Amino acid sequence: MNASINAEVEKFLKGLAKRNPHETEFHQAVREVVESLIPFVMEHPVYRDAQILERMTEPDRIISFRVTWEDDQGSIRANRAYRVQFNNSIGPYKGGLRFHPSVTQSVLKFLGFEQVLKNSLTGLPMGGAKGGANFNPKGKSDREVMRFCQSLMTELHRHIGEDTDVPAGDIGVGAREISYLFGQYKRLENRFTGILTGKGLSFGGSLVRKEATGYGCIYFCENMLKERGDSIAGKTVSVSGSGNVALYAIEKANSLGATVVSASDSSGTIHDPKGIDEKKLAFLKDLKEVRRGRIHAYAEAFPEASFHEKQRPWNIPVDVALPCATQNEIDESDAAVLLKNGVKAVCEGANMPTALGAAHQFLNAKILYGPAKAANAGGVAVSGLEQSQNALRLSWSRDEVDTNLQTIMKDIHQKCLEHGRQPDFVNYVDGANIAGFIKVADAMVAYGAV
Ligand code: NAP
Repeated sequence: MNASINAEVEKFLKGLAKRNPHETEFHQAVREVVESLIPFVMEHPVYRDAQILERMTEPDRIISFRVTWEDDQGSIRANRAYRVQFNNSIGPYKGGLRFHPSVTQSVLKFLGFEQVLKNSLTGLPMGGAKGGANFNPKGKSDREVMRFCQSLMTELHRHIGEDTDVPAGDIGVGAREISYLFGQYKRLENRFTGILTGKGLSFGGSLVRKEATGYGCIYFCENMLKERGDSIAGKTVSVSGSGNVALYAIEKANSLGATVVSASDSSGTIHDPKGIDEKKLAFLKDLKEVRRGRIHAYAEAFPEASFHEKQRPWNIPVDVALPCATQNEIDESDAAVLLKNGVKAVCEGANMPTALGAAHQFLNAKILYGPAKAANAGGVAVSGLEQSQNALRLSWSRDEVDTNLQTIMKDIHQKCLEHGRQPDFVNYVDGANIAGFIKVADAMVAYGAV
């Protein structure tokens, strides 16, 4: 980056930090994007004159509310929930709900901002939003989770709608939570309509939605590898997390002939040098999706695997690393170890899993580095397909949805090439940021000063 661009970036970020004090996650997400976009905007004065970057980094609105609920002991509990409706220039707001104690306005603003560009990249008509609460579903009974979801929807229902804002799941919000939320919406509004995605198959859900983010991440990774005349078949892969994204990334990597040697949760990592094959993956799905157990149980069931308490998987030598747990889970020292061990590709299933300095290391090393807004867009893409099926009152077959997903991931990859190709490598970060930006920015310019 030359000195004048660098000065513009720092000036922009100084203003952002002043307007949004203490929101470190949001600052980080915006920095990653404006490092790509400020040089582009400087070459395209139409965006600069319309103040698009300044407007795009300010959410349309933030709704914040108290969620009061009763626990199994009869005690009254209160949490804070939000919906950040970031930008609806190209379609109704769309983005997940996260239930985790770490949820703050800053975390949801970073996720909502990323979501705007990600949704644009899918080519579907979806704006960007994110929401959630600092509620921890871990250790709560089903009844407690139900009462929490019902209380949350009692406020949220007035802010969402199939043409306004369509939430989905994220960390801590899976099939169980979406079902409770949808049931309460239906009761309050007396309308059966597609206001949430990730629904059960018997009430408007889409085939392949559950698998979409993980599968999509592998499809994107395979597209990147193909670009270098390579493939994921025969590769050794590390995965972090063992939730929705991780489990289905493992499943698709296996089916394409890779060997996945790790999974993790917030208690630690399991390393299985022989690979998490189909049988072991079935165990892991049951452990995580049904029994809601901890990852060490895997190493107890399969003695060839070892459990490493409080460790992340990045010191295991692999060809491909797939961070699929949470933000900032690869720091600079993790990136250095991955590179020293010869990693060829890092493809982000989670949102912003790579700290900024670590991302710069991957870019400088010119490895294949697939940023989240491109690599994990498969989930929201199939959510968009779920909305289309709901509007048409139709259900598409598994093959139809999966074929659509593969095409969307290929198109996203193509857009990244178009805007990120450099003489000796592809900068997928620039490619994704610029391609996602153009569509939203053009709509905002067309609308005038709104
Ligand atoms: P999930 O099903 O709730 O699973 C999250 C996984 O990450 C769990 O294994 C969890 O372990 C682990 N994790 C969470 N916080 C952690 C922390 N601070 N340190 C270590 N491990 C942690 O959530 P998910 O839907 O798979 O989402 C994972 C990531 O993908 C998130 O960044 C999310 O925003 C992103 N994403 C999800 C989708 C989607 O369709 N679901 C789409 C796009 C992007 P514990 O159980 O121990 O907490």
